[in-house]
Amino acid sequence: MRTWVRGGQVYDVHEAVYRRRDIEVADGRIVRLVDQGRPLAGDAVIDVDGAWLWPGLIDLHVHITMPTEAANPDNPWRGRLPGEIAIYAAKAAERTLMGGITTAREVGGWDYHEIAVRSAINRGLIKGPRLFCAGRLLSITTATVDYYPGMYEVADGPEAVRVAARKQLAHGADFIKVMATGAMTASEYEDARAIQYTLEELKAAVAVATENYKYVVAHAHACAGIRNAALAGCRTVEHGSFGDEEAYALMAERGTYLVPTLCVVSAMLADNQVSAGLPAHIHNRYLDFDDIHAENASLARRTGVTIAMGTDAGTPGNHHGDNTQELVSMVRRSGMSAREAVVASTLSAARALGREADLGSLAAGKFADVVGFREDPIATIERVRDVRLVVKGGEVVRNDLRA
Ligand SMILES: [Zn+2]
Repeated sequence: MRTWVRGGQVYDVHEAVYRRRDIEVADGRIVRLVDQGRPLAGDAVIDVDGAWLWPGLIDLHVHITMPTEAANPDNPWRGRLPGEIAIYAAKAAERTLMGGITTAREVGGWDYHEIAVRSAINRGLIKGPRLFCAGRLLSITTATVDYYPGMYEVADGPEAVRVAARKQLAHGADFIKVMATGAMTASEYEDARAIQYTLEELKAAVAVATENYKYVVAHAHACAGIRNAALAGCRTVEHGSFGDEEAYALMAERGTYLVPTLCVVSAMLADNQVSAGLPAHIHNRYLDFDDIHAENASLARRTGVTIAMGTDAGTPGNHHGDNTQELVSMVRRSGMSAREAVVASTLSAARALGREADLGSLAAGKFADVVGFREDPIATIERVRDVRLVVKGGEVVRNDLRA
């Protein structure tokens, strides 16, 4: 049996144009795009009536085990049962998918509950995006370990990093996440402007990943940490807040992607309860760095760095399912065009995952992952928050086009 997504304006991310096309789907993948499909008896037909269709969106930076409703990120699961974390993560995965994210990269889970969620999604038990998981993130000894005891794997020195990286792979990690610098949503005793892992330690992580056909994702705010991540051969730099032109030029030269996660602060501010309850040291840091961060994402882009989309959904007020707000931030805050934001959220993100053959555009042979809107978000980017249709692997998981 075939499925047809009929009557949509289909966006071509390579040519940056819409074309009126019917999409023929079989076995979860796109067979072809045609002017006028001819469904056979028994084919399933989804009429989308001129809806604006994009490839399913890819969020490269989520934490589905993190409860975004908690204003204080200092160990939000203290005293909770392990099962509560898994159930929250499963629900967060579903909300993420319903929000138009058909693929997500989980860059720091909690005691591997997110790997269980990935497994349940892949087995068809629950709904969620295609998930790629880091397991626990690798970190030096730092005060923030107490904030996220289920998320951090402490490893100091290259040998310990190797062991910690191998442990994540043994737990089913798809890639390795490392903390190249301090974090923002962190203990008051941590400084995001300071490096954490040294170049030597980062290289140890990259070596283990490469030996296992995997790659490394580096959290980096501090300029020196961004440089180290690029030099070590990390595939993506997350946040990238305090870089300079030289650091971004190095990233561009080495083909390192930047996942800026620009919506963290605006998402927090939009939730009054979270904003009021956020610890003062984090609130102040957020406000201090937000403009610099957006300006530097713009500088990175102008310097030739490929930007890929990531929200950091999981930080306080950065709710699972509201992921498309990052495209608004990209356009309104860092000077990207709407077309560039779509590429960052589809093709570039698919390349960063090393999965361009399956993901990132609406083309024959790729997964039939589609997101649809009633009004074109390219014309007004805010419309991207009004997702009405989500198709994952040819299965309609949401259709509110007529609601
Ligand atoms: Zn994060």
